Amino acid sequence: MLVTSLPLPTTFTLSSLQTCKKTKTTPVHCSSPPPPQSPMDPQSKRVAVCGGGVIGVCTAYFLAKKGASVTLIEKSSVACAASGKSGGFLALDCFNLHRSLAEELNGAESYGYRPLPTLSLTVSESEKQSPPSRDKNLPCWIDGPARGLRAIGSTETTAQVHPQMFTKALLSKAVEKYGVEVVIGKVDSVGVEGGRVESVVLEGGRVIESDSVVLALGPWSGKFEMLSSLFRVYGLRVHSIVLEPKEPDAITPHALFLSYYPEQGGKPMESEVFPRPTGEVYLCGVSSEVELPEDPEQIAGDPESLEVLKRVASTVSSHLGEGEARLKAEQACFLPCTDDSVPVIGEIPGVKGCYVATGHNCWGILNGPATGAAMAELIVDGQATVVDLARFSPARFVGRRRKG
Ligand SMILES: Cc1cc2nc3c(=O)[nH]c(=O)nc-3n(C[C@H](O)[C@H](O)[C@H](O)COP(=O)(O)OP(=O)(O)OC[C@H]3O[C@@H](n4cnc5c(N)ncnc54)[C@H](O)[C@@H]3O)c2cc1C
Repeated sequence: MLVTSLPLPTTFTLSSLQTCKKTKTTPVHCSSPPPPQSPMDPQSKRVAVCGGGVIGVCTAYFLAKKGASVTLIEKSSVACAASGKSGGFLALDCFNLHRSLAEELNGAESYGYRPLPTLSLTVSESEKQSPPSRDKNLPCWIDGPARGLRAIGSTETTAQVHPQMFTKALLSKAVEKYGVEVVIGKVDSVGVEGGRVESVVLEGGRVIESDSVVLALGPWSGKFEMLSSLFRVYGLRVHSIVLEPKEPDAITPHALFLSYYPEQGGKPMESEVFPRPTGEVYLCGVSSEVELPEDPEQIAGDPESLEVLKRVASTVSSHLGEGEARLKAEQACFLPCTDDSVPVIGEIPGVKGCYVATGHNCWGILNGPATGAAMAELIVDGQATVVDLARFSPARFVGRRRKG
């Protein structure tokens, strides 16, 4: 089998999510350390991290590990949005940080961390009746009309986690070992006095006094005027299904990136298929620009888009067709996107002590640990060394005209 390396993350041409291709999300590259500036006593730092997705949880974990006193505030439940419903695919950069976390937290057992090879394929519904000659390198369970097989990642360069289990496992560790406090409540506003942050105010009036505040609210970050007046963060809905095949052992651990041609013609659709160590198979694809609901629990998928994903599953493999696999979940969630497709990570200009970490688009699970580690350094030490945050700074928007 021809093994090429993943065209990730420098070009971002791989990701299945149409939106990712379209927006060319920028990954968070690890860098060599510049010297830290103005270190602070971490014990005296009270930090409120707003948002219990992967970005908020990773930030809370690394902050608390550095000795800060951290309160994580989540409106609904931890990893209830994209961070619980994503593919959990990991590639190249900063994958090392995931590797060391997996060792620390026994990730293989606790959240399905697994290196796995990655293939790209073209699948055409119209070839279902007379499939192309079978490539002998295709895993047996891919018995549908597949062609153009390419190996685009190996166990050295690609891996996976169960994103919800990962986020929850990291938070459990942060709570048990490093004393993070979790508050379920909706952040209403950030209290600022004399240009410096001093608290977070929850719906209902509870005030959490803080020396620093991190806004890691995914696509909901745009609901905060403090951020929306500076730049646009918006959500793009993407669908996914989770199947439980009757014969899970028949499915080998191969991540698939598909170019899928529907029967009726038109442009190919991008879809991803990730078998998980739990025996489940996760599929995602089909995006649409719709309004972001206020409540993450109210996010619903479009029935037609979910049907398309079920058709993709049964076309790729008879093991994933109706009668052969139970439909465990059909769902949708929102990618957090920015206009320049670059995540926004850093201190908000003009509000000392108030930070933002969002806009990770289709790579938040991959880049969560690097983002969290960098935020922790920035807040506690005054400078990030693990990642050069310069190009992610929200200051880049000052003086720019906001789109939309
Ligand atoms: C279908 C799909 C597949 C994906 N696949 C991959 C993949 O394979 N690999 C990868 O690396 N990434 C993937 N991603 C991207 C990844 O899931 C996201 O980038 C990441 O989850 C974003 O995390 P977040 O913490 O920024 O946002 P979210 O997960 O959206 O979390 C934000 C949290 O903030 C909370 N919140 C909102 N408002 C408030 C408030 N006022 N007060 C308190 N809390 C609030 C919400 O309830 C939510 O829990 C995928 C995404 C999708 C949609």
